[in-house]
Amino acid sequence: MAQLSDDCFAFGGPMMSVDNAVGLIAASVNAIMDSETVPLLDSDGRVLARDVTAPLPLPPFTNSAVDGYAVRSEDIAKTAEQILPVVGRIQAGAAAYEPLQAGHAARIFTGAPIPPGADTVFMQEDVRIDSFGKVVLPPGLRPGANVRPAGEDIPQGKIGLRAGQRLSPQHVALAAAFGLTHLKVVRRIRVAVFSTGNELASPGEARAGAQLYDSNRFMLMAMLRRLRCEITDLGILRDDAMSLASGLKKVAGECDLILTTGGVSTGEEDHVKAAVESIGTLVMWRMAIKPGRPVAMGIIGGTPLIGLPGNPVASFVTFVHVVRPTVLALSGALPEPLIPMPVRAAFAYKKKAGRREYVRASLRKANDGALEAIKFPREGAGLLSSLVDTDGLVELGESITQIEPGQSVGFLHYASLL
Ligand code: AMP
Ligand code: MG
Repeated sequence: MAQLSDDCFAFGGPMMSVDNAVGLIAASVNAIMDSETVPLLDSDGRVLARDVTAPLPLPPFTNSAVDGYAVRSEDIAKTAEQILPVVGRIQAGAAAYEPLQAGHAARIFTGAPIPPGADTVFMQEDVRIDSFGKVVLPPGLRPGANVRPAGEDIPQGKIGLRAGQRLSPQHVALAAAFGLTHLKVVRRIRVAVFSTGNELASPGEARAGAQLYDSNRFMLMAMLRRLRCEITDLGILRDDAMSLASGLKKVAGECDLILTTGGVSTGEEDHVKAAVESIGTLVMWRMAIKPGRPVAMGIIGGTPLIGLPGNPVASFVTFVHVVRPTVLALSGALPEPLIPMPVRAAFAYKKKAGRREYVRASLRKANDGALEAIKFPREGAGLLSSLVDTDGLVELGESITQIEPGQSVGFLHYASLL
């Protein structure tokens, strides 16, 4: 399990900026070193445990980039057309082929090996065949044109994939191009998840009049799944410090991270703080982020705990900025900073300086072709529809106090967040 010292998150000041929190997580959370070997396809989304060196050059052999005619560059005329007899027909996958003799062209197809002696390929669209079946080549083609030399993509022995890379389909493709069937990846991060609140009922359960269905736990588990975590669903714990403490005690030591939602504000019925303090160390974070703000981070027997707020939008936004970097750090993943894309604000907005705000917004293409962010009309942190009916978050930095329509703002698409 991930062992952390009790004071590893100690910090000064009442409110921590988002950047400081992310920096602190990266500096304090130790990577899990355990790895496992998985079939190639299952490596998608996992974190690579070891560098992968190219066992062969890519492409493995020099080949044609087009359908056309392979020639020797000495035979290309500088100023006039050149007519060459066509010998041979080299298809992709051709096993054996003759060297190309001087003064000849070979019919060749995309991906087929360039015959010895040839070094340039004319595209079939650029030539014609005369009445004798000879190929008529235009003058002036650059020697080496339309040829893909062996190793031009990746030379043999070069590192193709780095340890710590979170694998995507394109990385899986590269490993397959190397002929690999399996990859060594960091084992899944084990996360125990529970919600807190007397007002919560699980979907499928009977719901009392003043209860609502627990949506956060399913959102958070779905987000953790995208990060390829192994999840233990601990359900809903009631709002009392004793049962929270015993619930936490049970799982600490059996997981790499405990994730809770709700009960982290400073209200009398917010018991996560007291529960953690009774069995571990709680470093209360009031993060300078809206929606969000109350976010707890603590250590129970060496296992980190993150307590997210109960309001669904706050829970979503703080997951992205606290849980995601923690899971990545536990996995030993290379840092993946979120990079907002510049778009044009189609709204006015006022905010306080000193905290980061995230505005739920939809994207629209304006008449001049520019991308515009349309703000969701309402602001409540409890509005699930505000997450469902938008495309992402406009990020407003700490120093910003006002946005006017037409101003450039940074936009994080939901698809880029996990
Ligand atoms: P809390 O952070 O516990 O004070 O909760 C803040 C608000 O979020 C309250 O209105 C809760 O009912 C709501 N809430 C808390 N936990 C959840 C949850 N798991 N799913 C949906 N709403 C929740
Ligand atoms: Mg609560």
